[in-house]
This record gives sequence, C-alpha cells and structure tokens, in this order.
Amino acid sequence: MPVVISPPAAVFKERESMKVTVLGFSNGLDCLDSSNTSLLVQTERTSIMVDVSSSPRQSLLRTGIDSLSLDAVLITHGHIDHVYAFPSLIHSMWLQNRTKPLLVVGNRLAIEVCKHFVLYFKLDKKIRFRIDWKDVTTNRIGDVRISSFSLYHRPEVPVNGFTFVADGFKVSYFPDSVATLPLPECSLFSDLMIHEAGGLEKNKEEINLSHTTALQAAMMAKTAEVKELVLVHVPENPKLRQEMLDEARSVFPNTLIPTSGLELTKAREAFSIFDAL
Ligand SMILES: [Zn+2]
Repeated sequence: MPVVISPPAAVFKERESMKVTVLGFSNGLDCLDSSNTSLLVQTERTSIMVDVSSSPRQSLLRTGIDSLSLDAVLITHGHIDHVYAFPSLIHSMWLQNRTKPLLVVGNRLAIEVCKHFVLYFKLDKKIRFRIDWKDVTTNRIGDVRISSFSLYHRPEVPVNGFTFVADGFKVSYFPDSVATLPLPECSLFSDLMIHEAGGLEKNKEEINLSHTTALQAAMMAKTAEVKELVLVHVPENPKLRQEMLDEARSVFPNTLIPTSGLELTKAREAFSIFDAL
C-alpha cells in the first residue's frame, strides 16, 4: 500500500490539499515490502513524481492516477536506484499516445542519465510529446512552489533536496545525503520532513560516508522545527528499522518509518497513522 501524508483537512476546508505519497521507501536494495525510494507530490492540479523506481505506471495507478496525467518528473540524483525506471515511464507514456509535454527536472548529471536512457532506447524517435528538460533552479511546477538545495552524498554524484509548498502545506525532502548543517533555510518549519536514513548512530562513521543516521535525521527535524519526520531509503532488516525508529524518536517523537501497511491519509486529523512502525 502506498503511504499518503497530508496536512489537516481543517486547514484547507473544502478543497483538496497537497499530498505526498511515498511510492517506495527502501534503500538501494529493493525488498519484499518496498521498491526503492520514490515519492509522488500532488495537488488538485499538479502531479510530480520524485525519482522513478519499480514499475512506475503501476505505482501511479495504485495511487489513483495514470502516468498520462503526470506533469513532471523530478530526479534527485543520477544513482541507479533513483532513475532506472525512467525509460519505462516514458515508454508507457508513448504506448498511451501521450501528447502533453513532460517536464523533467534535475541537476546536470541526473538529466544526462535520463537523456542517455531516452537516446539509448530511441524513445525520442517514438514519443509524440515534448520533454522539457529543466535544471534545479525551477521554482514552480503548476501550483507547487519548489526550492532546491545541494546535499553531499558521494563526491562524484551531485544530489539535490527539495522543498514543496502548496495549499499552505510545506514538505521538505532530503534524499541520499550525509546529514547537512546548517539546514537549508527553505526547509525550516516544514509541516513534514522526509529524510533518508542509512542506519544507527553506532555505525555513524561508516554511514556518514554517504548517508545520515536515524539520530542525525531526528536532530535535523528537531533543529528545523518541523512537525513530522518520515524516514525513507531505509534498510531491509525489520529489526534494524525498528531500532532506527526508536533511536530517532528518542530525539524527535513524531517520527515514522513507512511499512507496507502504513497509510497516512488526509481526512480528519493531521497525519493520521494506521499500521506504522
Ligand atoms: Zn544515491
């Protein structure tokens, strides 16, 4: 089941608010209960897929939308687990005779990887829609305001995090990266921080070569004064996930790790939680 996170309905009254669906939450190794980390950011008018994993059209259909209506794809970085399904997504759009232009946003390397995929599979000769390639200075997609920030992950791979704002709801996303301080200003006071976490603080030395510990993510959430933290890009081992959650909650109690049964729905209360770790 996808994980849907929305702000309190009361704030937005009649109209639908922006929501974020966690399409996948595993690290580089996809596993039984999740594909690699990928998100869907949606308002009533705009749909943005953030990183592309698994069977992208199927993931979107499960959230109730078709890849045909997707407005944009945003790639955080050019690592394989974040971008391998991009050609499949474009292919599905071709099979459905898409004509609406598609915006693809990412840093130089991320765009380069996506363009290679398109050329390698000769998708450019097939598709009847335009792909608009845009860099990470893009500050608006439809009615979603976007800010990007640079993160350190691996020396050879630039990574960008993003803050999404619409309908009075602010979500900041920190993909693969080593804990970042000072925090990007645009991420402060978010309703929701979605942060990658590679393991426990006791393994900090190894994890901090390219990732963030659960404790560090929680400290960042606390420092940023966000309302809720969701850890993604987590390891497969359920016991380790639970330990990471406990570690994070010792600093920032409003922390979640998605499970296959986790569903956070818009509805009555802020961040209603069912069946979470
Ligand atoms: Zn990566």
